[in-house]
Amino acid sequence: MDPKLYERYSRQILFTEIGEAGQLRLLEARAALVGCGALGTALANLLVRAGLGSLRIIDRDFVEPSNLQRQTLFVEADARDALPKAVAAERRLRAINSGVEIEGVVADLGPHNAEELLASYALILDGTDNFETRCLLNDAAVKLGVPWIYAAAVSSYGVTMTILPGVTACLACLVRTPAQQGVEETCDTVGVLSAAAGVIASIQAAEAIKLLVGKREALHGQLISFDVWSGRFQAIRVARNPGCVTCARREFRYLEGEAQPRLTLCGRDSVQIHEHGRQLDLAALGRRLQPTAAEVRSNDFLLRFRVPPYEMTVFADGRAIVKGTRDPGVARSLYARYIGA
Ligand SMILES: [Zn+2]
Repeated sequence: MDPKLYERYSRQILFTEIGEAGQLRLLEARAALVGCGALGTALANLLVRAGLGSLRIIDRDFVEPSNLQRQTLFVEADARDALPKAVAAERRLRAINSGVEIEGVVADLGPHNAEELLASYALILDGTDNFETRCLLNDAAVKLGVPWIYAAAVSSYGVTMTILPGVTACLACLVRTPAQQGVEETCDTVGVLSAAAGVIASIQAAEAIKLLVGKREALHGQLISFDVWSGRFQAIRVARNPGCVTCARREFRYLEGEAQPRLTLCGRDSVQIHEHGRQLDLAALGRRLQPTAAEVRSNDFLLRFRVPPYEMTVFADGRAIVKGTRDPGVARSLYARYIGA
């Protein structure tokens, strides 16, 4: 190994389970991370510092001031400039380790692009914040035969499980009735401690490294949960469900788009409108909105403006997030009025 690389990763190489051979494998490894929030930023930081070969980061959101408490790759200027998280993360990670190939993709992962965005990676990492996208990741990973690491953190606790398609239980084996997930606690309703996300991201990162250096026998093989407030730790072995709709029957309902609405509620008071492939001219739209909307601001990736009490953020592909309502009808009518149907 190149002496400079050896020096850089020497403390990890000294750990005998990795060694020089493991480090060389890691330097060639390619992983995709979906979602770059509290879990995603912590995880990306750990893996990029560890010397992963290449990391693709897929995220649909932009940095906001309320993210800074826990999303450890972002700084105040990122929130002020409303940079897309994928872009801000890519910049910061390149500064941390210029030897890693990092690609930020500003996109909303959905049935229409999941396989294309995730194929050709050795590992898929879950940094998402909603159950539906995790089911989609599970479908894509099982169909492509790619390992993925499920993780979630909310309030003071988090859970994680490593899924090897065809070998371990998958997410659908674990959650047999997705409908029961209807009342989902989220970071926007009950908050989240950065420490909880950090613990779970660390377990995820260790699992990722084991997989990428070829040490499958070292994987913990359980559904792990940890509460940083109570100190309670649980590890449960989950058996495969022989009748599993996803990993046994290979019916990929989320990937086929049955469960994908064109509108989704995101957060406590926001609605997202999916309008892919419209290719808006954000500069022209900004000029048109100047007389009617307040605080029209834009960067290369998105345009944001206020029509009190609402705030709209529009991406170049036509996707929009309407803040200030949970009513899909209101969101749709604002979209039609200001962006065009
Ligand atoms: Zn399954």
